[in-house]
Amino acid sequence: MYYLIFLSPAILLMLWAQYKVKSNFARGMNVPARMSGAATARHILDTSGLNDVEVVETEGMLTDHYDPSHRVVRLSQDVYHGQTAASVGIAAHEVGHALQHAQHYGPLVIRNLAVPAAQFGGTAFMILLIVGMLMQSIQLVMLGIAMYACVVVFQIINLPVEFDASNRAKRILSEMGIVDQQGAIAVAGVLNAAAWTYVAATLQAILTLLYYIMIFSNRRD
Ligand SMILES: [Zn+2]
Repeated sequence: MYYLIFLSPAILLMLWAQYKVKSNFARGMNVPARMSGAATARHILDTSGLNDVEVVETEGMLTDHYDPSHRVVRLSQDVYHGQTAASVGIAAHEVGHALQHAQHYGPLVIRNLAVPAAQFGGTAFMILLIVGMLMQSIQLVMLGIAMYACVVVFQIINLPVEFDASNRAKRILSEMGIVDQQGAIAVAGVLNAAAWTYVAATLQAILTLLYYIMIFSNRRD
């Protein structure tokens, strides 16, 4: 219960950001763009010399992502086919990650290195926490908390990567004339809301870390 109260700023921010993503996405789906999300992605990739990066359609809603291991931009149905500001905004953001990858953008390189550490850290944290509490070993619990720090570091490194991809998207869409001024505002609405979900996730990770440090450092006394 105390955990929920302690994390409430992050939880409220996340709920608000997710609501903003949905409502700004719905609004952006009604603002026309010059081409579809798929055509936009293809156009930006080709003009950037990344003809070999594929653009494919994928299942689900807001499941859009860039897959660095296969060098594929995967776009959800609405984004792939939609000739709207929301569609081209999200498509251009994912292409932004492909551009970062091709240019060995520093924060992305570090983020990709941090992925296995964060995955390991998240799992090891849970196991060490449970085992540590069962065995009443504060050392194991503390080790678990230290493992969770990997997750926090990953979330923090993720922020400049996401912000940069969105900034690239906004700039390129306006430069190429794919959206007009009204479209650019709608694109910013979608991408800025998405950025807040990453800020909320980071805050949640930081508060979780602080929470466990607090309760277990008290318990030691
Ligand atoms: Zn992204």
